[in-house]
Amino acid sequence: MAETVRIAMTGGHGPLKWPQRCPRCGASSDLIYFDGRVARESVSLGLGVWRFRRYSLTFSILTCRRHALANELGAALLARGMVMMLLRGLIYISLSLSLILVFLFATGARAPTEFAHTTPAPFLGYLVAGWCGTGLLLWARRVTAVRPVRLDPDQDVAVLRFADEKYARDFKKANSKATSKALSDPPIFFARASFWKTVLVIALVAFIAHKVAHATPQSHCERAPPRPRSSDYYWSCPGPAALANSARVTGR
Ligand SMILES: [Zn+2]
Repeated sequence: MAETVRIAMTGGHGPLKWPQRCPRCGASSDLIYFDGRVARESVSLGLGVWRFRRYSLTFSILTCRRHALANELGAALLARGMVMMLLRGLIYISLSLSLILVFLFATGARAPTEFAHTTPAPFLGYLVAGWCGTGLLLWARRVTAVRPVRLDPDQDVAVLRFADEKYARDFKKANSKATSKALSDPPIFFARASFWKTVLVIALVAFIAHKVAHATPQSHCERAPPRPRSSDYYWSCPGPAALANSARVTGR
């Protein structure tokens, strides 16, 4: 079972101490350090221009020489940066499209040969890239024994993910002060700046959605005939669904 560990990066407890063995294979000889990176990225609209900010932190991770490179590559593929998240998003979309196609082929709704002949090559390439990317991500999950996940948005706390539970326990024991609850635990949710930012964004989206939802029927009403004296006026402004229905009826 994998375990995530929160580590306070400030507080004067010195560099991290690593258990003297490889987190992947357990070898205790030929150990080397590789660079693990965590970053905090933010995009904001300030003075009419998009500002992209990135703050990253590097620390050395100890593994055996044989597993260092794979661990470093795997961690980079699974990194939380915006670029990598976008790439992974494209891979997941491609894979979903592939799975829908497989379903259509299996049920006989579409013929594979006909699909291959009528589909533009770039789209076929995108589907193939999706399978390759998925394979690469599965490989990354398998080889990454120690993965720097992220920097906490509110504190100088790095989050690391260990594939091996026992190794994670030994790591915490070796760095008992940096991983102590007092230094690394997140503050209660309403004391976090990121919580209020999220609330603000949700409120803004809800406000825009509300405005949009109420703007549409009004435009029909403006074109509606002047108010009759009967009490069924409130039914004289048809909603979008009613309009679509009447269009279908009169169209045929
Ligand atoms: Zn190893």
